[in-house]
Amino acid sequence: MSDAYNAFLSDIEIPSDASGPLAGIRVAVKDNISTKNIPTTCASKILLGYIPPYDAHAVELLKAAGATIAGKTNMDEFGMGTTTENSAFGPALNPRDTTRVTGGSSGGSAAAVAAGLVPMALGSDTGGSIRCPASYCGIVGLKPSYGRVSRYGLIAYANSFEQIGPMAANVTDTAKLFSVIAGGDRRDSTSVDKPYRFADLHADIKGKVIGVPREYFGEGVDADVAKTVETSIGRLEELGAVIREVSLPSMQYALAAYYVTCTCEASSNLDRFDGVRYGPEPEMNLPWHDAYTKVREAGFGPEVRRRILLGTFALSAGYYGKYYVKAQHAKQLIRRDFQRVLTGCDLLAGPTMPNVAPKLGEMTADPLRMYQTDILTVPVNIAGIPAVSLPCGTAHGMPVGLQLMGRMFGEEALLNAALAFE
Ligand code: GLN
Repeated sequence: MSDAYNAFLSDIEIPSDASGPLAGIRVAVKDNISTKNIPTTCASKILLGYIPPYDAHAVELLKAAGATIAGKTNMDEFGMGTTTENSAFGPALNPRDTTRVTGGSSGGSAAAVAAGLVPMALGSDTGGSIRCPASYCGIVGLKPSYGRVSRYGLIAYANSFEQIGPMAANVTDTAKLFSVIAGGDRRDSTSVDKPYRFADLHADIKGKVIGVPREYFGEGVDADVAKTVETSIGRLEELGAVIREVSLPSMQYALAAYYVTCTCEASSNLDRFDGVRYGPEPEMNLPWHDAYTKVREAGFGPEVRRRILLGTFALSAGYYGKYYVKAQHAKQLIRRDFQRVLTGCDLLAGPTMPNVAPKLGEMTADPLRMYQTDILTVPVNIAGIPAVSLPCGTAHGMPVGLQLMGRMFGEEALLNAALAFE
């Protein structure tokens, strides 16, 4: 452990002498984002010894803005998890209560910010991995619109969902970091040239119509968490927002559609790790197939292996139509639901997570229970829209996150509303 919370996997610092909006500011970077000359492991043994020869686009932009890269942060292996307990290097600890998890998968980034070790950090969010740990650790985290930040240099888990995004102690720092990393990049063909202007950030919520999806207060949402979030929605109304109840009926398919799709994408993405260039040393005297199997057994943790198996199964010839294709249809329905409600509303609001940070070890025995806690975050990744988690009070003595969701490429309105609420 290089710090009291096991937030960092590497504490190598790389200063920049560029002058820019982040001059002299230390920014921690999640360990699935490539950093030139700094080991990048995705918290996996399969990547031990890997030192990227190049920077991710977001890291290039940080350096150009004058930021000091302040080390690489702990995470669930390859981003697969909701607690940061699936790290090959031990869990990160929640600075608010070290007997509890940080949330995941960007748990190290959240812990580093919440403990005041850095003012800002980069995370990545495939199905909630920025917003969940932001909620559990009591900080701010933004999942940008799909395409608004280049994924060049982000080691892929599930490409069709994930985005790099900012995490910080407050909305202003979150917006500032976002303004540095947003914009197009020809090396990521899904990126869109829509920069974000920090100078435009101003508190603005009066008259905005905020939809509250009924499903965000459904089964499984802790009653005390729901109460805290309802109180903060009341505050939004006091600030001049117009609150309207809405419904997203297809949300019932979101978890299944997400987990089928992300395991399929993961099984194909993780195909490339064979131990030849880095990771556990293969036994070269064995037949190729046996050597490959042994390396991957030694290099991948149990959750990663589970997902590779699930994804390979779902993509196999006889089952492709039954699972993968069905999941794509469900995703369409969910997208349309969000488009419909976001035509009548400027923003949506609800809890980020259905619970507060669980105790260490509470979730690890039951992966399905852990997957279920993603119910309020994954619909946003399916829809591609931006969402921010804001600290909004406590329940059971732990922080609760209010999730505000916006229109596609509507980060401006989203962050302005977040600033008004803060
Ligand atoms: N908990 C979700 C998963 O395990 C989301 C993780 C993420 O956003 N990287 O897939």
